[in-house]
Amino acid sequence: MAGKKKILIVEDNSDIRKLMVFFLERMGYDVLEAATGLAAIERARATLPDLITMDLGLPDITGDKATARLKADPSTKHIPVIAITAYYKETPLVESAVAAGVCEVLYKPMPLRSLDDALRRLLTVQPNESASAARNPTIFSNDGPRLTDHT
Ligand code: MN
Repeated sequence: MAGKKKILIVEDNSDIRKLMVFFLERMGYDVLEAATGLAAIERARATLPDLITMDLGLPDITGDKATARLKADPSTKHIPVIAITAYYKETPLVESAVAAGVCEVLYKPMPLRSLDDALRRLLTVQPNESASAARNPTIFSNDGPRLTDHT
């Protein structure tokens, strides 16, 4: 579909990343992945996604630093970045991510619905048939899949 929004998921935990890919593809997004901060920068520059979800605890450079680099690059600075982390609001890492320019911080564990809501708000996409299918409570109930608590 031509109008599909492109989301880059940055997450080093492969189980969580796969869950997010599965969920976001069902929501009708075109999904790209990166498992490290440096890979995220490279991927973002190459593909110019409409939005990035950025895990903060990453094995090479942390998500706040990756965000800062993206925001310093004229080709990627316009891309909205959502920080997704198990760290608490007052930790320096989250403060640093906010200072770097993330537009939203989501905390693990969280319902995937929260991610869906944030994406809709930031991308102002209209619900489509894929979205309706993914909202089927037999697949995703209110207390269904959650991103787990990890760094
Ligand atoms: Mn992580």
